[in-house]
Formats: sequence, C-alpha cells, structure tokens
Amino acid sequence: MIHDNAPIVTGNASILEGNSFKAEDAAALPDRERSLIERREARLGSAYRLFYKKPVELVRGHGAHVWDAAGDEYLDLYNNVPTLGHAHPAVVDAVTRQMSTLNTHTRYLHAAILDYSEDLCATLPGDDYQTMFVCTGSEANDLALRVGRTFTGGQAWIATSEAYHGNTALVTAHSPSLAGAEQMDPTLRVIDPPDTYRHGSSDRAGAAFLAQVRRAIEDIEKSNEGFAGLIADSSFSSDGVFTGESGMITAAIDLVHEHGGIFIADEVQPGFARTGEAFWGFARHGLVPDIVTTGKPMGNGFPVAGMIARHHVLEPFSSTRPYFNTFGGNPVAIAAAQAVLDTIHAEGLQQHALEVGRAFRAALSELAANHPAIGDVRGAGLYTALELVTDRDTKTPATSLGLAVIEGLRRRGVLTSVCGPGNNILKLRPPLAFAADDIPRAIDALDAVLSEAAH
Ligand code: PMP
Repeated sequence: MIHDNAPIVTGNASILEGNSFKAEDAAALPDRERSLIERREARLGSAYRLFYKKPVELVRGHGAHVWDAAGDEYLDLYNNVPTLGHAHPAVVDAVTRQMSTLNTHTRYLHAAILDYSEDLCATLPGDDYQTMFVCTGSEANDLALRVGRTFTGGQAWIATSEAYHGNTALVTAHSPSLAGAEQMDPTLRVIDPPDTYRHGSSDRAGAAFLAQVRRAIEDIEKSNEGFAGLIADSSFSSDGVFTGESGMITAAIDLVHEHGGIFIADEVQPGFARTGEAFWGFARHGLVPDIVTTGKPMGNGFPVAGMIARHHVLEPFSSTRPYFNTFGGNPVAIAAAQAVLDTIHAEGLQQHALEVGRAFRAALSELAANHPAIGDVRGAGLYTALELVTDRDTKTPATSLGLAVIEGLRRRGVLTSVCGPGNNILKLRPPLAFAADDIPRAIDALDAVLSEAAH
C-alpha cells in the first residue's frame, strides 16, 4: 500500500523504541546502573535509548563474546559493527600502527586510500565505480540521495515501510521507521517490503514488491516531483529481514531503471560478506546498483563509511561541486577498513558466514518443532530472523513475546534485539567470529526462554 504522506508525529520511532529501557524501570536497578543512567540523563539528554529493562554495562569484548562490569560474559548475537569480532587484532594493529605514524585527511596525497578503493571496487559488479569516503552510514546515504537527485533531476524516492537509512535531516526524512517521531519528506513514497513469510514464497513476495514499486512510480509520474529512484537495504533488515531467494527483487529494480530512476543499495547491514552467499547483499540478487552505501561493518567499529557510485551517476554531482569530509577516509580510517577487507578474504569469512549461518538456521528450525510461537526462521549467512507469532495460521505478530524473549535471553547471557513493525522478530546478527561451537548455547538459551514464556 502507498501510505499517506501526511506527517504523523507521535514521538514513536519504531526502530528505536523496541527493546528500550524506560524511566520507570530505573527503580529496580542496582545503585551503579541507576547512577550511570542518571548521569546520562543529566549530561547526554533524553534522546538516547538504552537496550533492556536492566541495561548492560559492557567493558570488554573478544570475538563474539562480551563482558560486563561485574565480569559476567555474554554471547553477542546482535552486533554487526565489530564484524570480524570484538577487538580483532588485525584491526587493532593496523589502527595503532597508522595512528602512531600519521593521521591527516584527503587534502593531502596518500596511497593507502587509493589501494583500498581499488580493492573495494574489485568486489563490485563493474569497473566504473568511484568511492567517496565519509564517517557514517547516515552520511553515505545523505550523499547518495544528493548524488541521485542531481543525476536524475528528480526529487521523489521510494523506500520500504520500516526502513532506517540514518540520522541526518535528509536521510531521517527518508527513513519510514522514524515516521512516528519525524516528518517524512513529502515526496517520499513508502511501500511494503517483500515479506516472504506472509506471501508464502519469494516469487509471490517479489511479485507483490514489483507491483508496489510500479504503483509508487506511477504516483510519482502523475506529480511534477520527478522520479529519483529507490533506496533499499536488499536484505530489508529493519523491515524484518527478508533476504528471500536469489533474484527476488530483480524485476522491481529493472522497473526503476526503465523509468529513469536509480537504485541505491544501502549495504550498511548486508555488506561485507555477512550474507555468506555473496560479498554484498545486492549481489545475491544479481543486481548492479547505481550507488552502494556502506557503513557499520566496514571498519570493525572504527568510523569509516563510503558512498560508491558508478562514474556516470556521480559525474554531474562531482563536476559541479567540491566535497570535503574532515575525518572521512583519513589514513587511520582506511587502515581499519583495509584490515577488515583483507581479513574477510584471508580468513574466508564469507564461506564461514555461509556455513555457520546454515547450521544455525537448521538448529533454529529444529527448535521450532517444539515451540509453536516460532512462526518462521529465515535469513542468509550470519543474518537470521526468528519471527514469533501468536498463531501460525494467522501469522499474528507476538509483540509482547518478542520483548520478553530478548529480556529472558539477556538474563541467560545472550544478547540480541528485535526488528519489524511488531517488535516480534528476533534479529540474530552476530560478529562473523560466531562459530559452530556457539550454536548450542544460543539454542539452549532460546529453548529455555521460550519454554518459560509458554507457561
Ligand atoms: N542504513 C542502515 C540500513 C542502517 O542499519 C544504519 C544504521 N543502523 C544506517 C544506514 C545508518 O548508519 P550510521 O548509524 O552509521 O549513520
């Protein structure tokens, strides 16, 4: 459905409100946590959201494991930012070495940024991509929307209903998951993601997605806004993780191109080998994006991000305005990014994600036999969604169960969170260091928590 573009501001931004600490939870906390929360409130203000009713104070990490201030250890099933693993030595060494040598910016010549760009572009489906470096996924998408508007001359973008693309003014206005709290761009057309679970197959989900894209384009073409294109995370992460089968969204992207729009592949979540089947999420569907944006996993936690565009798409923007980003692509950021890319290749982490992810989903599917609340297990590589429902026939989202399960997992030393509009979809997205040995612990914890919840 094409949603009404009228701004609805309720203060509820679905993506940030699920699994979030509420002020009324403070009374039950130990003194140390309560005091840290009071200091946050006093000095950081109240816009930030903490995870969990009993927030976790993490002080150390290694691989897919983290430790809190009391020394308790947790299995991290949530964090894709330290994509190789927490405190990975290759990144620590590279950053330390470069920081001890020189850190400047892109107004001086430096070979490392060129070596990295060449290596990064070698992973893309074409030899005409060019990279501009920024510090966050939000900045990458902000730049991508500007580049796309300049190239097409159009204003209006299409995005999915729970998409999150970042936090700048422009990108916030194109992130429908924030629509309860922020005003959307009046030209934005919002469509449903290809929900493979409710449509019952990738073919049907892809056809429904295509129909929605078609209607949105028709709607834009009836206006005088001009069609800019579609921005999407090809694994639809915050919509609920709909990786689908290869090719599911190809026809929709072809239609965008036929109508003169561009496709921005937001790879902040599925990129850098996570899906196992390909290095990039869009590559699973055989797509050739006009622009690729990257962020979180690119530097294993060091702030480095990129906007990678095909030469002819970037040219109208880059030939008419200079661009500078003080921290973007500095030698330390590039050292981190290079170490991540090299380690993914050297340690075969794409294949690892493929194999361990498959084994994890197989174990989760077995668990589903004993737990009727598990409606669907889906994903690719080390990106898995476990959808909880109140009834498998109606597929009704089990909203309160989702939040209860992640609280229960936290009590049992397993960290994760929820996604999707009903907060009923567990997002299982560990560092790629997550190994086959970690699977039984995750399964046992889920088994225990779901059994508790059923009684
Ligand atoms: N795009 C997607 C798909 C994301 O998940 C995020 C962050 N969660 C962003 C963009 C924004 O990235 P950042 O927080 O680095 O600005």
